[in-house]
Amino acid sequence: METSDRDSRHKARMIRKKAVIDEKIEQANQEKGLLLILTGNGKGKSSSAFGMVARSLGHGMCVGVAQFIKGRSDTGEEAFFRQHPAVTWHVLGEGFTWNTQDRQRDTETAMRGWQIVAGMLQDPAIQLVVLDELTYTFKYGYLDEQMVLDAIAKRPPMQHVVITGRGASEALRNAADTVSELMDVKHAWRAGIKAQAGIDL
Ligand code: ATP
Ligand code: MG
Repeated sequence: METSDRDSRHKARMIRKKAVIDEKIEQANQEKGLLLILTGNGKGKSSSAFGMVARSLGHGMCVGVAQFIKGRSDTGEEAFFRQHPAVTWHVLGEGFTWNTQDRQRDTETAMRGWQIVAGMLQDPAIQLVVLDELTYTFKYGYLDEQMVLDAIAKRPPMQHVVITGRGASEALRNAADTVSELMDVKHAWRAGIKAQAGIDL
């Protein structure tokens, strides 16, 4: 008796919910290339971006990836996606800033990398561009943020761009369509566990 009452209330609630969602789906009828920012101190920024690479490839899209501050050359995502004919993969950084310790050299490396990215941002055949760890190039002054924002604003209208990295600026957040801030609740590394293949690299 009580169960059937609960079931019918559930059904009525779902009917109302469906009407609201259907209306929202109808209102969201625009299509355009999106700018997404994945920032914050929690784990999941780059791996989320590479999840969108997989999605895009599943839809037959062409993808360009540029990794700016490259800490290691043995990541699973690079090994996997590099083999894919629809992926162009560029490693533009020489390592973490605390390893190179040479700002002038890092700036020159980032500027050379930027030339490649600027080309991708003018190529409508590349439907998704991932700029992994780009935020650090602004933080350390390797690249001019406004120059990058201008190029992003002028990109082909249907091209998606995903930027990852901690500490995304206000300007970057304002320019974006979607911003997610990953929160660091807990990380195994702090319990003394080293980076694990398949999870961290
Ligand atoms: P992932 O590539 O796993 O999605 P991320 O891009 O969010 O991580 P980065 O700041 O780029 O994080 O750091 C990359 C590496 O550092 C990964 O091995 C990741 O597991 C690790 N890491 C990320 N966040 C933290 C954290 N809060 N504490 C310690 N290590 C972290
Ligand atoms: Mg990352």
